Amino acid sequence: MDVYDITIIGGGPTGLFGAFYAGLRGLRTKIIDVLPEVGGQLTALYPEKYVYDVAGHPKILAKDLAKNLGLQAALFKPAFCLGEKVSTLQKSGDNWQIITDVSSEHYTKSVLLALGAGACVPKKLDIDYNHEWDAECIFYSVKNKERFRGKNVLIVGGGDSAVDWANEFSQLANKVTLIHRRDQFRAVQTSVEEMRVNKVDVKTFYELKSIEGTDKVTGVTIFDNRTGKEEQLQVDALIINIGFVINLDFLKSWGLKMDVNAITVNEKMETNLPGVYAAGDIAAHQAKLKLIATGAAEAATGVNFACTYINPTAKVFPGHSSNLNLSI
Ligand SMILES: Cc1cc2nc3c(=O)[nH]c(=O)nc-3n(C[C@H](O)[C@H](O)[C@H](O)COP(=O)(O)OP(=O)(O)OC[C@H]3O[C@@H](n4cnc5c(N)ncnc54)[C@H](O)[C@@H]3O)c2cc1C
Repeated sequence: MDVYDITIIGGGPTGLFGAFYAGLRGLRTKIIDVLPEVGGQLTALYPEKYVYDVAGHPKILAKDLAKNLGLQAALFKPAFCLGEKVSTLQKSGDNWQIITDVSSEHYTKSVLLALGAGACVPKKLDIDYNHEWDAECIFYSVKNKERFRGKNVLIVGGGDSAVDWANEFSQLANKVTLIHRRDQFRAVQTSVEEMRVNKVDVKTFYELKSIEGTDKVTGVTIFDNRTGKEEQLQVDALIINIGFVINLDFLKSWGLKMDVNAITVNEKMETNLPGVYAAGDIAAHQAKLKLIATGAAEAATGVNFACTYINPTAKVFPGHSSNLNLSI
């Protein structure tokens, strides 16, 4: 049985920074993620967007930040197990056993849960349409902005993703229309106001009725949900940002104390299970902010306390990395 010191479930920004810190502390580390590449939401949901609130980076593309985090995590050569969805976490003697959907068993002394919002599954449209258009004309995330250059784009949704894409594509696309079923936006107010300046055709109280086309999408029918009045739009591409499917019920079966859709932790990032820590979007505590910066700090805290769990004589404080001489 090959027992790792720490296994990090989730290779998003929190898990990757946790892996770096675990390496820094000399822990034998493994990272497991269901996705084929690391980066979590940065890679899966908004790789082409700029992030401005990460320490030391005035402006960085999400995909570049994910790449840097991956490189930093890889510095101490952790084991990466990608494309594996963790289904079970259970005690095995003094250690923890982790089982994944590819029938793999992993053994570890401690665990850092950095699951984010779960396996990042965007909510799908609940109308019938030709699914051959998915990833060609209908997008649940944007991996390549250039695909939308000169196109007539319809964006569905009223959250940050929808509004941010509307603003971004107003420069690149031929025409951008955003429909939202309410007149209240979940997106930040400044972005909503920017959308009006950017000449995005914003249609509130509108929903999608059908998508038309043969080989590719050529148009849509939308309707006013107050009157039922329908309208046809010429559209080449749709971006659907109507939220995510969150199913974290399986965590309860692991015996974890939950606070709605997050795992309750204390100031050491300890969960109620000994040797199991949580950090990042998945962790709930009173001062919670769901940000890349705070996730990184929580990962560092969790890993340093995991060190003392594995070896009670170890110090919590890791020392200063500037005292090291790493060949990078
Ligand atoms: C459009 C958008 C823009 C944003 N912009 C910013 C910004 O500008 N600044 C900022 O600070 N934050 C921003 N955020 C929020 C930020 O992305 C999150 O706070 C951050 O990604 C959380 O990191 P995480 O590692 O905790 O979780 P995630 O990034 O969600 O990573 C979790 C990982 O765990 C994996 N996973 C989940 N369940 C399992 C399982 N059962 N088995 C195996 N793997 C699993 C997932 O596949 C995923 O890779 C933005 C979010 C969105 C959606």
